[in-house]
Amino acid sequence: MEPLDERWIGHLDMDAFFASVEQLDEPAYRGRPVVVGGLGPRGVVATASYEARRFGIHSAMPMAVAQKRCPDAVFLAGRFERYHEISVRVRQILTGASSLLETVSLDEAFFDLSEHGRGAVAVAEGVKREVQAATGLTCSVGVAPNRFLAKMGSELSKPDGFLWIEPGSVRELLDPLPVGKIWGVGEVTERRLRGLGFLRIADLRQAPLDLLTREFGSMGLRLQELARGEDATPIGAETDSVSMSREVTYSVDLVQFEEIEDEVRRLARTVAQELRGESMLCRTVRIKVRYPDFRTITRQARLSVSTDSETLIEALAVHLLREHTHLDEHGVRLLGVGVSGLGAALSRQLSLFDDSPLAASGAGQSSPRRGKE
Ligand SMILES: [Mg+2]
Repeated sequence: MEPLDERWIGHLDMDAFFASVEQLDEPAYRGRPVVVGGLGPRGVVATASYEARRFGIHSAMPMAVAQKRCPDAVFLAGRFERYHEISVRVRQILTGASSLLETVSLDEAFFDLSEHGRGAVAVAEGVKREVQAATGLTCSVGVAPNRFLAKMGSELSKPDGFLWIEPGSVRELLDPLPVGKIWGVGEVTERRLRGLGFLRIADLRQAPLDLLTREFGSMGLRLQELARGEDATPIGAETDSVSMSREVTYSVDLVQFEEIEDEVRRLARTVAQELRGESMLCRTVRIKVRYPDFRTITRQARLSVSTDSETLIEALAVHLLREHTHLDEHGVRLLGVGVSGLGAALSRQLSLFDDSPLAASGAGQSSPRRGKE
């Protein structure tokens, strides 16, 4: 057995974040169903308040369906700047409690509490209290030996909850839950698992590994590890390990600046489209330039929020090219554009605010290496 009790990870998730902010700022909305999201004909729900959830309204649902389920709800387009402001405040509090943070989206973050040893739980409880005092909003916090369990903790304790999962209680907690509760198990995988007779996490934990590997490839082992409550993923690493990029080596070096910039734009748009195609968002945009003498540089900029905006990714890539590379008459032989810090569809709500000017704040801050913020 690995010494599980040496690692303590916290996961903080604001409760019904966008809707709660609206209810905080407008007393007339309190106690009423509030739905924040895209109000256009193809809009989707970003957040539904708990009152709205009672009508079966949930995030990612088409707004038209939400309107049908509860015509009397308050429907709002959302105020990104305000959400961002509160998110920054929450982040400050987390920074005071942990030296290793990973922001998943505006309303969700992991924070490593291992440095506090057995004091981790008290520190996390302090964070929860402080967030409420500073913002007037509730959040839910999970504290556990790893990322997966920490997220499970905040989810199971929602709203306004706190759950500390000790190593000894993991099996008891996970076993009775449906397999769909496992992080990353989407509808398709859940259906396949159920089709194989694995309804509860306990079933998956006890499943023959060769069967899981046959059915799910390398994900089979990962699923079983999660079912056992094991997750060695470090904070900050999971999102950064995923990236998408496009690069081209030119048969003839490109020397015209306009031509080079056009290529960077084209590559950036292609990557942004791929990102959208996968329903992902990115936090980091990078470019790669190889000069004719094979010297190769990469430059990257990290955003303060996640995005899949083609406009923003393209603008950042061009900014990096213009401001952070030295192009001379020799030109380039290779160009690449990539994105990383990817988050899955769970933070997709943010793309509603794509073209808000604040979405670009933090852009231009470039750093040659990866690291925590
Ligand atoms: Mg939330």
